[in-house]
Amino acid sequence: MVPGAGAARAMLVRDGRIAAVGDPGEIRAAAGPGAEVARLDGATIVPGLIDAHCHVADIGYLAAGADCSQPSAPDIPAIQARLREASSRTPAGSWVTGSGYVEYQLREGRHPTRADLDQAVPDRPAVLYHTSLHACVLNSAALRAAGFEDRQPDPPGGAFGRDGEGRLDGVVFEGPMFALLERNLRDDITRMGAAERARLMQRAGQRLAALGVTAACDADLRRDTFAAFAEADQAGALQQRIYGLVVHDQVDWLLANGLQGRHSGRLATEAVKIWADGGMSSRTAAIHGSYPVPPHGSGILFFSRDELTAMVREFDARGFQVAVHAQGDRAIGTVLDAYAAVLGGGMGLAGPGLGGPAGSAPAGRNPQRHRIEHAGAMYPALTARSAELGIVIVSQPGFLSALGDGFAAAFPGQADQLYAFGSWRRAGLTVAGSSDAPVISAAPLLGIRDAVTRRTDGGQVLGPDERLTAGEALALYTTEAAAAMHREDEIGSLQPGKLADFVVLDANPLQADPAQLAGIQVLATAVDGTPTYQAENVLPVR
Ligand SMILES: [Zn+2]
Repeated sequence: MVPGAGAARAMLVRDGRIAAVGDPGEIRAAAGPGAEVARLDGATIVPGLIDAHCHVADIGYLAAGADCSQPSAPDIPAIQARLREASSRTPAGSWVTGSGYVEYQLREGRHPTRADLDQAVPDRPAVLYHTSLHACVLNSAALRAAGFEDRQPDPPGGAFGRDGEGRLDGVVFEGPMFALLERNLRDDITRMGAAERARLMQRAGQRLAALGVTAACDADLRRDTFAAFAEADQAGALQQRIYGLVVHDQVDWLLANGLQGRHSGRLATEAVKIWADGGMSSRTAAIHGSYPVPPHGSGILFFSRDELTAMVREFDARGFQVAVHAQGDRAIGTVLDAYAAVLGGGMGLAGPGLGGPAGSAPAGRNPQRHRIEHAGAMYPALTARSAELGIVIVSQPGFLSALGDGFAAAFPGQADQLYAFGSWRRAGLTVAGSSDAPVISAAPLLGIRDAVTRRTDGGQVLGPDERLTAGEALALYTTEAAAAMHREDEIGSLQPGKLADFVVLDANPLQADPAQLAGIQVLATAVDGTPTYQAENVLPVR
């Protein structure tokens, strides 16, 4: 069975494209003599899965450091052990790096501090990134190397954690954390030779291919990571189609070098990324009201409405698709104001049916398909405004299990309305699925499960009315994600003429017990008809 093309039982792939889909007898006749045949009895083929928002280079980069996520590191002594071990294999000049912790999931229920990290890594800089990648912890050597001092006030767009006497405790939120991650990533990637850089991209590509991912929007494309992708592309080593969301301050560089647009079938830079606010799990998303949990406050908004409008107007005029990170309701409202100012007044026009079988589509009012990334606290009034403007939503169902218990604590009374996939769909929005990995696992099947169950790791069901069917959840990662990257004519469904991107699964996700969806095994992944991953040799290798 082949979702997206009815209950077809056979598919013919020729020259990297789907040539025909249908009855095995007809397909065999169309294939002619000498065709290679893969028998997939009992397996299910689905369209290649698309992650519409993740951080591909970061997946490879952080995977090389210490794994401080659950269940690898359930408490601070375990984090210390992971960092000690990473220290022994981190090259001189690089910071010892760990990632993946969530303070409220640790046995201690708090962020580790500089003192905790100093015990593990006393003599060189060490950084431990929060799973949200909106906060991190530095040891004393790293605080010194970064130039952060006890008496220093909080920088604009960021905050420092402090002890009872006002001294820095090592935790760094938002702005200065982004600068650190960007600088460390850039320094480390620059220091790498081409071969090592290729390994980093390959590690990320292999991880994603093993999860069935055939295309990804890299939500954080910069000059150095672009170079790494371009090298891999030229070497024929990209294992996914990479659709780059170019960080807004890199656009001048991109344009000066004539790099806007499509570079090949596997690499494109057609969109720009802007961050409007912080993160949900670091409680820095800009909300109306204030958080009842640390660090309290009402979140961080990085740009005023006028600044955001000017940026959107400029990038829109230059022909870019604009993708704005907005999590809190205050940030989403500001972004919608900016989009409304640029897209103009009047009523939304019906779209041409771009979004797939459910008929949801970016409205004609938003031809460049400007997006909101995440949209965690997009409540009903904001959803209605987004629908009127035809804004494309790119969100992460998989946050619900991994981070949902924290959301429930930070948004008492509103948790049922967070990540409101059901309401968004009913409002007619195009909604694409994604992981935001390495923030959480990149597995699309896990996201599909969470869109169907909405069950947190602690067992709460957040917003039962917002659950999707398995078919709707699969569409998030196929037809809808393809539309979110302007590729619905090429990928996202198994139809003759489209590129042969597909995944072989050991069970049918549309018929599985919802709780078992994340356990479905990827047997093989193919891009342009060529395997990028095989758990079992089920596909002919060319
Ligand atoms: Zn992201």
